Amino acid sequence: MSDILVYAETAGSAIHPVTFELLGKAGELAERLGLKVSSAVLGYNISDEAPELIYHGADKVYVYDDERLRDLNVISYKNVLVRLAREIKPEIFLLGATPWGRSLAPRIAAALDTGLTADCIDLQISEDGRLIQVRPAFTGNILAYIETTSKPIMATIRYRVMKKPPRDPDRRGEIIARKPEGIDEEWVRCLGKISEKRVSLADAEVIVAGGRGLKRKEDLRLLEELAGLLCGVIGVSRPLVEEGWISKDHQVGFSGNVVKPKLYIACGISGSPQHLAGMRDSNMIIAINNDPSAPIFRYADYGVVADLYDAIPKLIHSLTEAMSREGRSSRRA
Ligand SMILES: Cc1cc2nc3c(=O)[nH]c(=O)nc-3n(C[C@H](O)[C@H](O)[C@H](O)COP(=O)(O)OP(=O)(O)OC[C@H]3O[C@@H](n4cnc5c(N)ncnc54)[C@H](O)[C@@H]3O)c2cc1C
Repeated sequence: MSDILVYAETAGSAIHPVTFELLGKAGELAERLGLKVSSAVLGYNISDEAPELIYHGADKVYVYDDERLRDLNVISYKNVLVRLAREIKPEIFLLGATPWGRSLAPRIAAALDTGLTADCIDLQISEDGRLIQVRPAFTGNILAYIETTSKPIMATIRYRVMKKPPRDPDRRGEIIARKPEGIDEEWVRCLGKISEKRVSLADAEVIVAGGRGLKRKEDLRLLEELAGLLCGVIGVSRPLVEEGWISKDHQVGFSGNVVKPKLYIACGISGSPQHLAGMRDSNMIIAINNDPSAPIFRYADYGVVADLYDAIPKLIHSLTEAMSREGRSSRRA
């Protein structure tokens, strides 16, 4: 019986949560199509994670635990996964549409000479049992329903669009330890590591985002201060990434991160369709913009027509005051 293969992405030694969402969806599809769910996990010291994949829906897990896979070398990872796909011939092959998955998937698809539907938000089965991949097109204005005729059918799926299945520690499956092959070719050589604090915008509950309304890179500190008070993180519109002010991890929008925080504060962002595509599902949106006709106000729950250089320091001041009042009263109590 052929499989639906889910690539289990590892960040360090932990499995990226998108993997569990993919396993949940793969389980649904497998049941309808009469297939089995397999998963492949690669890395170093990751063997202990394999049972988690079974508990979340995999029937079989291929484990490639090897020191040579410690670094995320895209060519090595691609080679190992291509070999596995050639051997087990999955019907469907799913990866997360994370920065790593987006880098890996097209290389695998090219090597397997198959198509790839990137950034899917749903996978459906047509009445006659064919897999339909759903993804936004034209900056999210329409949904495209795509069918791939080549095999395996490959897709990357966005993080947090599918439900994580409940963890069932009584579930049983097969864990197969494999020796990775095809990773000796040193096509990519690591010259050194830059340690950069990475943010996970997709998981953030509060995002304070800045756009071209900011005049200088240094002014991002204003947003940092506000985000710090709200236990949030910084997001930006694409031009700020293009200017090199901040890394792409922070970009919100169609070609960046899709976010759903409880609170999104957009400062000096006009609200282009590409930016809205990444944040319009936030629970609450507050926009600060000095142009009352800025499109972002049409999507905001609260709009502040003001210069951000005036409004943000006032907001920081009020929050600091409120927090110190609260601190004083809780000390008295
Ligand atoms: C294929 C494609 C993909 C793209 N993907 C993305 C994406 O993922 N994310 C993204 O963000 N963009 C993306 N873009 C770019 C997008 O089209 C816009 O150019 C971008 O979102 C505009 O960023 P902005 O709102 O910061 O700048 P602007 O549109 O220039 O808006 C700046 C705003 O700041 C306000 N402002 C100015 N000064 C102040 C002040 N002192 N106080 C308060 N407000 C002030 C202005 O009134 C204005 O509304 C993409 C474009 C393309 C073609």
